[in-house]
Amino acid sequence: MTKCIRAARAVTMTSGEEPVIKDFAMLHDQGRILDAGPWSELKKDFSGDVEDLGDVTIVPGLINAHVHLELSHLTGMTVQGQGFTGWIKSLLANPLYELETEAVRKAVLEMQAEGTAFCVDISTRNCAQVASIMDELGMGFFACCEAIGVQIPKEGAKFFPQKQYTHGRAAGSGHSLYSTGAEFLQAVKKADDAAGLPYPIHMAENAEEDEIVAAGSGEFAQMLKGVGLLADCGKKGLRPVEYADSLGLLDQSTLAVHCVRVSETDIITLKQRKVNVCLCPRSNAYIGEGRAPWEKILESGINTCLGTDSIASNHDLSMWNELEYLLKNIKISMSPVEALALVTTNSARALKIFDSYGSLEKGKRAVYASVPNKLEDLLF
Ligand SMILES: [Zn+2]
Repeated sequence: MTKCIRAARAVTMTSGEEPVIKDFAMLHDQGRILDAGPWSELKKDFSGDVEDLGDVTIVPGLINAHVHLELSHLTGMTVQGQGFTGWIKSLLANPLYELETEAVRKAVLEMQAEGTAFCVDISTRNCAQVASIMDELGMGFFACCEAIGVQIPKEGAKFFPQKQYTHGRAAGSGHSLYSTGAEFLQAVKKADDAAGLPYPIHMAENAEEDEIVAAGSGEFAQMLKGVGLLADCGKKGLRPVEYADSLGLLDQSTLAVHCVRVSETDIITLKQRKVNVCLCPRSNAYIGEGRAPWEKILESGINTCLGTDSIASNHDLSMWNELEYLLKNIKISMSPVEALALVTTNSARALKIFDSYGSLEKGKRAVYASVPNKLEDLLF
């Protein structure tokens, strides 16, 4: 049966529409939007239940483009501000192998409570289990099984569960250029491409990565070598983006996560290859990696979105808090639509889920988020 949601204001993120629609209404049935627009127009042909959200601004359901839910039990269990090597040592001091399912469930419910409707989850060990939890709780998702290690994949190998889910899909992702062998990264990319899936990979996150990719050296390289996870990533003095490009990993399906340490040339390469960038501002600050050149990345026209990364390198998994942090620290002015695009339309385009997510318009999922008061002033 058709139902209606009303709100005082909406930013639908539908192209060609006024940015803010006052006295907004959205008719929906079976989880899909049938019509959306001013209540004054929609009420003429509607006589069903109306859920009035009151004096709030709603936007499309938010998308968290990078999270690791298998680390949900690690709130406050890692060091802050000591750089990546220090952070990873503190991470590895925790129990990581057994999935704490209750912590994952709680994290998903908290994400949903603050408006996140879709996430890209990266799991090293528990991809199928995390996917099942997200599916059960109705979170839209890509559950990515992370490729890590230097093994050469066997012919015909499968890199992620070939299982049907109601609310999402399993996919493959690459951990990084330094911890995953080139053939492995390429094979997973090929599998994702064949299935029409996005290909996330951590890229240009920190100084350690620069050093390993360029020269194969450093304390972190020795740590990786000790556990058999140091990839032979060229050692030709290349920057991470240059090396990824040399492997053919950069195209419109790639989601390059972090991009903290990208040069102007790297940004041009990412733009030319139509790569999507996922920024994780609070995670980078938490670890002490510095911050990505947000302004240059955005001004280049690269399709850019936001992710929280895991709770092991952030204070919470709130996309509103992620956006707030960026807006308070960025040095260019952004319109409400440009800012909200980082957590809605841009993310949906990057992930190729724009037919169902990213805007409040006919045919898409009837999922929305309410703008918290603290964001109203920053956005409008
Ligand atoms: Zn990550």
